[in-house]
Amino acid sequence: MEFFDVVNSMGHEQVVLCSDPVTGLRAIICIHNTSLGPALGGTRMWKYESDQAALTDALRLSRGMTYKAAVSGVNLGGGKAVILGDPRTDKNETLFRAYGRMVETLRGRYITAEDVGTSVRDMEWIRMETKYVTGVGGPGGSGDPSPVTALGVFSGMLASAKKMWGADTLSGKKIVVQGAGNVASYLISHLTDAGATVYVSDIYEEKAVNVAKKTGASVIKASDVFTTKCDIFSPNALGGILDDDVIPQLTCSIVCGGANNQLKSEQKHAQMLHERGIMYAPDYVVNSGGLMNVASEVDGYEQSKVMRQAEGIYDITMNILNISADRNILTIDASNAIAEERLAKLRHVHGTYVGSPTIRGV
Ligand code: NAD
Repeated sequence: MEFFDVVNSMGHEQVVLCSDPVTGLRAIICIHNTSLGPALGGTRMWKYESDQAALTDALRLSRGMTYKAAVSGVNLGGGKAVILGDPRTDKNETLFRAYGRMVETLRGRYITAEDVGTSVRDMEWIRMETKYVTGVGGPGGSGDPSPVTALGVFSGMLASAKKMWGADTLSGKKIVVQGAGNVASYLISHLTDAGATVYVSDIYEEKAVNVAKKTGASVIKASDVFTTKCDIFSPNALGGILDDDVIPQLTCSIVCGGANNQLKSEQKHAQMLHERGIMYAPDYVVNSGGLMNVASEVDGYEQSKVMRQAEGIYDITMNILNISADRNILTIDASNAIAEERLAKLRHVHGTYVGSPTIRGV
């Protein structure tokens, strides 16, 4: 497909390629939809296999942010950015400040935050060049969104358990967690506290070992993550992992995790999970706590309020699971329908002109 065909097929408003050879910056900012407000979404730093892979990731992630905001009641649009580079070796102040300048050129159409491979410190470098950044530390800043994201995933998992087994408890359940990063470590604490038996894996095994030590989880090899027998599989690493090869191997009843874009092909792989009798809790719904956290910076950050909002993901998830069951549609379709309905209605509301006309310069 040609470049514009790809962009048009997902309905993006704007794609910005950022290049600065002096600092080594290569980044892509995707603004998907601003019907609900300025586009907000994190900046991911990753060593992509190709520029095309980076673009595809940014396009998919930004579209996901539009749906996430719409379904979770947040008044923001969808956007996301990727910086092409190795977060372990390629980070420095000038690179992030050059990126901050690029964000500034969009004058608030895009607001950034942390994502995989970026941290609060990186957001502080970006903040030196633009105010359009959330997830910074200090007074008024929401800091690391992971605890709130993890609470939201946990709440969505409780709702899924209630729908699947009739009780919203995870006590005695076996849960396999892929990834031992920020979200996973907080999530696993909730899971072990709730009496679940948790198995964790990471491509960097020492990370899994550290999380296991703190939480009482057991470490498994990254290669065993799909085949280890469990009740719930929780993806908390990267996206695109649920595909033709993996889905037939799964032994779980529920997939519920914080990673974005878990389904390699949204419709096809949601359908495959459904046919295997596996309940899929839509990723962008259960991980919307991170968005709630950064969005709250706009009105004055208060963590206890955001935590209560993230617990509301239980009800949002349950509503989706109920609609899916009642209408006999996929959970992802139920969720997309709720998001699209809100987008369409608010697009209509925002279509009412509220400005002051200038007539003959008066
Ligand atoms: P992170 O970088 O802290 O953790 C990701 C972990 O996954 C890393 O430890 C990495 O080594 C590991 N990993 C990568 N590939 C793996 C594989 N194949 N098998 C096992 N482990 C693997 O990132 P995070 O902030 O915890 O985010 C995790 C996921 O949740 C991402 O998809 C992110 O987009 C999504 N998410 C995060 C937030 C948030 O608040 N941080 C909010 C919404 C969504």
